[in-house]
Amino acid sequence: MVEHQLRRRGIADERVLQAMSRVPRHLFVPESLRHVAYEDGALPIGEGQTISQPFIVATICSLLRLEGDERVLDVGTGSGYQAAVLAELAAEVVTVERVPELYEWARRALAQAGYERVETRLGDGSLGVPDRAPYDAIAVAAAAPAIPPALYGQLAPGGRLVLPRGGRRGQELVLAERTDEGPVERVSVPCRFVPLLGAEGFAGG
Ligand code: SAH
Repeated sequence: MVEHQLRRRGIADERVLQAMSRVPRHLFVPESLRHVAYEDGALPIGEGQTISQPFIVATICSLLRLEGDERVLDVGTGSGYQAAVLAELAAEVVTVERVPELYEWARRALAQAGYERVETRLGDGSLGVPDRAPYDAIAVAAAAPAIPPALYGQLAPGGRLVLPRGGRRGQELVLAERTDEGPVERVSVPCRFVPLLGAEGFAGG
């Protein structure tokens, strides 16, 4: 997975490549899909949600440029896989999920894989997790029409946020850095995520 899907496609951050070779992705997919856990794609994890494609997880992590001492917020826990990769790359990870079944499932998977220090929360992540802010980095794994102001507001100065921005059917990954002059944005690859529902996401949640 790391050599073929990541390195050959241009993921060059050695810390990200190493982190993804360490995290047992098969522990984060339903048992019936374990045999395809390392293949090149998103996979269903129940409740209409998906575990992201490895290349996209690697791209998000690379854009965040983590060095090891950061506090990171992961919005949209889903399977817990992205949170586990972030835990390999940073000092503290807080992850938030809105669907109780997924929250419970991810807690179990994270514990089973040895990531019990990841802090799991149940709630509307479009509002962030204010009581643990500020964050050096925020990774959003669900699509939104715009960067939720609450999330940007929970970034530390110089902090970086990655989010799939666009419509419900297709988006592009956007990197936003918090500066004294306001957000500085850079657009990365096209992508397709499930919608971020909730107060500052799409309606319907
Ligand atoms: N990072 C995940 C990908 C999960 S897909 C992984 O590695 O497996 C996106 C997740 O975002 C879904 O589980 C969905 O339920 C969740 N989600 C959508 N809107 C949300 C919100 N407002 N707050 C928290 N989670 C949300």
